[in-house]
Amino acid sequence: MKTEIVDRGEELDVAAPRCFCGKIARLQTSWIEANPLRRFHVCPNSSGRRKKVCGFFVWVDVEFPPREKALVSWLLRRLKELEKDVGHRQSRERKLMGWLILSWGLVMVVLFWQCL
Ligand SMILES: [Zn+2]
Repeated sequence: MKTEIVDRGEELDVAAPRCFCGKIARLQTSWIEANPLRRFHVCPNSSGRRKKVCGFFVWVDVEFPPREKALVSWLLRRLKELEKDVGHRQSRERKLMGWLILSWGLVMVVLFWQCL
């Protein structure tokens, strides 16, 4: 299998093989629980609107042992929960800021009327 080094920023150290189409395989990272954070090479035609697929697929990283796999999956789930929680808190903060601005506006109107 012919390989070449492709400059993809942080992935510079990974040798990219050519798929069966003859194109440089795309490096991707798995985010599913069965293989969290495990990198693989795949045919560049395997996603998007171009459905022409040669079937090329090869793992780059070795599989995590079961305990580490469970830990990484738990950490990824926890990260999603925390990101969701941050989103809810930011939404609530925006609403409270709106109420604060409205209440200060009302205070200013009342003070203005008392001055007349
Ligand atoms: Zn291909």
